Amino acid sequence: MAKILFAIFGNPVSHSKSPLMHNLSFKGLGFDACYARYKLNEGKKLKETFFALGLKGINITVPHKEHAYAACDVLDPFAEKVGAVNTIVEKEGLLYGYNTDAPGFLKAISEFQHIKTVLFLGAGGTAQSTSSILRDEGYEVTLLNRSEGRLEKFKKNGFKTYTFETFTPRAYDLIINMTSAGLEDDSLPAPKGLLEQIIPQTNACVDVIYGKETPFLKLAKLHGKATKDGSDMLLYQGIIAFEYFTDQCYTFKEIKLHMKKAFTL
Ligand code: NDP
Repeated sequence: MAKILFAIFGNPVSHSKSPLMHNLSFKGLGFDACYARYKLNEGKKLKETFFALGLKGINITVPHKEHAYAACDVLDPFAEKVGAVNTIVEKEGLLYGYNTDAPGFLKAISEFQHIKTVLFLGAGGTAQSTSSILRDEGYEVTLLNRSEGRLEKFKKNGFKTYTFETFTPRAYDLIINMTSAGLEDDSLPAPKGLLEQIIPQTNACVDVIYGKETPFLKLAKLHGKATKDGSDMLLYQGIIAFEYFTDQCYTFKEIKLHMKKAFTL
């Protein structure tokens, strides 16, 4: 019998760790499947490409998460609420869509105890799904972004939102860099003077960027704060996607044992 095929769709997609994460898990668990990467240029061709390649499931990364949402026949309630899908599974010719980024993120920050107030630096797509799940779980989320535009929808949804100009520094239990500042450059997600006022008052700092120590996390460490990068978020969203791909055949713990090896190779 032919192998069951999975893939990640994105543009760019060459940097993605997902093929390694999923293939290590398939191999380790003895599940006869293979996971590839596919550079999808046009998001609106997602569905036809999925079927043309004979896939069983996909992950979707930037910039196609909204196209993925639109392509699904059946949406998980949380994916429907946040309008973004990063995992699709085909069942009897229908595409089922899920968002595993946000629960993965929630699990990654759950190791920090006694957290109530959270400050997000940034208001992009990742902030959208993660702010929603955090609020559902009882966290109080405030967003600080360098420009006004992206804050509008958060404001409409009842979040407290500020730009650098309107923000008054105060204490937050957790500060999270949700921007791409520091990903390919050495920039901080907010002016240094502002960060120097809020970091000393926080318990911990988290960055969604993984694979490097960003200037934001360096600054947090200088202030003696507990820090965490985006690796666990990536790992946990992958494990939850794998659970959907394999129809909940394996436990989170079993999958983690194999998938985490992708971070040491
Ligand atoms: P978006 O493009 O949707 O949003 C980018 C955000 O970053 C905006 O709020 C933008 O502000 C802000 N920003 C960008 N550059 C700067 C800068 N130099 N200074 C201050 N603010 C800046 O991005 P995403 O939400 O899709 O991704 C955000 C980050 O999350 C990326 O680094 C990505 O790699 C990471 N990520 C990590 C994952 C993981 O598994 N660990 C999963 C998904 C994403 P403005 O509105 O003013 O433009």
